[in-house]
Amino acid sequence: MEGAVRLEQLRVLYSGQKLAVSSGLVLALILVSFLSEVISLQATSSWFLTLILIGILRLWDASLFLRGAIEVNEGNHWLIRFRLGVYATAMVWASACIFLFPEHDIWHQTFIGFALAGLGISVAIGYAVDLHSAIPFFTAATIPFMLRMFLPLEAFAISMGFATVLFLTVVYSSMWRIHHYLIENIKLRLDSARRNTVLLSSEQRFRQMFERPVTPMMLIDKTSNRIVAANEAAAKFYQYSVEQLQEMSPQDIEMSWVGLNSEQDIGSHVCRHRLHDQSYRDVEIYVSALSVDGRDLYFAIIHDITERKRVEAEVFQLAFYDALTGLPNRRLIQDRLQSAIKHSCVEHDRGCLIYLDLDHFKSINDIQGHELGDRLLIEVARRMMDSVGYAGMVGRLGGDEFVVLLQGLGPHAHEASVKAAVIAEKVREVLSQPYFFESSIPSQTSLMLAHYSSSSMGVSFFGDALIPAAELLKQAEMAMYQAKGDGRNMIRYFDPSMQQALEDHALLSAELRDALLNDHFELYFQMQVDSAGLPIGAEALLRWKHPERAVVGPEKFIGHIEESGLIVPVGNWVMQYACQRLKEWQAHESSRCRVLAVNVSAKQFHQNDFVERVTTIVAESGIDSNYLKLELTESAVIGDIHDTISKMERLRALGLRFSLDDFGTGHSSLKYLKHLPLDQLKIDQSFVRDLTTDANDAAIVDAVIGMAQALQLEVIAEGVETEAQRDILLAKGCKYFQGFLFSKPQPVKTFEASWLR
Ligand code: C2E
Ligand code: MG
Ligand code: MG
Repeated sequence: MEGAVRLEQLRVLYSGQKLAVSSGLVLALILVSFLSEVISLQATSSWFLTLILIGILRLWDASLFLRGAIEVNEGNHWLIRFRLGVYATAMVWASACIFLFPEHDIWHQTFIGFALAGLGISVAIGYAVDLHSAIPFFTAATIPFMLRMFLPLEAFAISMGFATVLFLTVVYSSMWRIHHYLIENIKLRLDSARRNTVLLSSEQRFRQMFERPVTPMMLIDKTSNRIVAANEAAAKFYQYSVEQLQEMSPQDIEMSWVGLNSEQDIGSHVCRHRLHDQSYRDVEIYVSALSVDGRDLYFAIIHDITERKRVEAEVFQLAFYDALTGLPNRRLIQDRLQSAIKHSCVEHDRGCLIYLDLDHFKSINDIQGHELGDRLLIEVARRMMDSVGYAGMVGRLGGDEFVVLLQGLGPHAHEASVKAAVIAEKVREVLSQPYFFESSIPSQTSLMLAHYSSSSMGVSFFGDALIPAAELLKQAEMAMYQAKGDGRNMIRYFDPSMQQALEDHALLSAELRDALLNDHFELYFQMQVDSAGLPIGAEALLRWKHPERAVVGPEKFIGHIEESGLIVPVGNWVMQYACQRLKEWQAHESSRCRVLAVNVSAKQFHQNDFVERVTTIVAESGIDSNYLKLELTESAVIGDIHDTISKMERLRALGLRFSLDDFGTGHSSLKYLKHLPLDQLKIDQSFVRDLTTDANDAAIVDAVIGMAQALQLEVIAEGVETEAQRDILLAKGCKYFQGFLFSKPQPVKTFEASWLR
């Protein structure tokens, strides 16, 4: 600021230079011509010439300054130049009292006095903007003359002296005041110029921003509710011209964000705006309040977020909805369920969760193909939605598991259970109706085939306590399993005894994990014999040496460890231990050629690295793998038939054999069977048990043996407990047996005592 003030001072001083110098010279000319009568021409002319010379230099200096673009930091230098010119002029005028002073000629002296006083006052005013110029000039123009006039100290001179001092005081103080006003004025001018510049540039910036081609912006008059300005981007976006927009109100484009003229209008809002072609776009609008020329305006910046919303909706759909059926997925169900439980507890309004699982869906999927399975699931979802309607939310947990979430069943348990039962029954009924799908055989696509399915449902109520959603899901699932256990196509309700079972289930999981860690599993062996009753091999059967209970059989826990995934490490252990025993037996002459059968569960077999694991274990044990047989159940072999065959063939290449366990209880068909590289079929003990009395079982056994013969497979019957059973089987063509009649499963020591004899 100081530098700018200095430049402005200089501008004032230099711009008055022409007038100051020329009027000074005119005054000097008048003075010298008047004094020519009393002062020598030489003195007057040399004095006047000096003044002219200085005057020319000063004018030249002024023109240099006024023409050049002077930088702020050069101000000091120019001020010094100016002051030097002033001082030189002042000296020449002061010298007039020496060289041009006519002794004893009072008139001429008075004239000089007037001239100098006039000059001094005009300079004092003219140069007041710089006191360092004004004071010295005024002093030099007046003081020497005063001293000269009044120094004799006569009475007249003394009183004149006082008057002069008064005159000087007035002039000096006026000079100071004028200087002060002038500087103040300069500062004010500069400040206002600066403000103007700032204002101008901010206006320019606003204009540039407003007119930016990418972002739609508008100014809306709050009072008249009209659009008063819009940029090109806004015009393009709304498909109008700027002029058209400026004649519209925000409502014409449905630009209502909250409701004009309210405090909440300010800020950002997500809403929909209508374009000229009547289509709608999702926008995020940022609104701020402006006051321009006393008008209250809204400044609105509009961002088109249609695409973002579409992507968000897609992500939401993917994250929370099932892709196949479009129903809410597990994540959304759990979330809604949790809120429902909370709401029910607060409002004392009960709700329930129906957990639904399709009966035998896996077989449909495996045998009829995934495509049909998918079509069935979609149809199930549709039927469920239709029958539940607005009464509740239908969701798909995954696979063939669905849920229905019902709320608002009332405050009383009985009333709630009746309402839930009505809806559950309706769903069960509708799902058990036949499903008609086009035939998947290309030549018969117009043929509609009927498929039958049913569902088992478990219902669990909420509203009493704030339980976690996962817990409630588990309860309903338990009840669903109960429905399955009770014969399927049923509805069962969760009750506290199931809770006990649920807790037992959790305890069992923990205990089984401990059993694996603490080496509490054991293998029993059961002999397999030929028609003469001679041992041909054995089956390894898993047992759990429970630390507190008696030895636990696999039926009690095998399902459990399959479900929890423990089957993989347990299965590995079984395989390792079995191979270890087989290696030992192969060292004995009597048992060298006997085959050891090991059970493999479906989950184990479907592990990606199943073949590699078995290969490693077999290699590490060093057995002759031709005597190792894997028993697979039908559920293990159906499914991805190609993968099953490939796995079986890779293991057969190592020498391993395969037996199909529990044959006849599953869903395998001849079509599948003939492709599988099997060695043996194992007649399930359920057919053997009543063989002597039940004609159906006898017929099934006949069929199995016939099938085995047709496929050139060995056949063995398990669960043979009596001579009569053995004799019938033998008569039907079965040559190999396993059962209590020959030996029970035994711990290794007992078993080997007779086995290795
Ligand atoms: P499975 O493979 O069909 O085994 C035959 C079952 O019948 C065995 O039951 C055996 O003890 C029983 N059994 C044999 N002869 C007779 C008889 O004359 N009368 C009667 N009533 N039962 C007889 P266990 O040992 O309880 O095993 C049950 C099932 O558990 C096995 O059925 C098998 O599917 C599974 N399992 C056993 N060990 C393992 C294993 O290490 N891994 C896998 N994945 N499953 C196993
Ligand atoms: Mg078996
Ligand atoms: Mg079996």
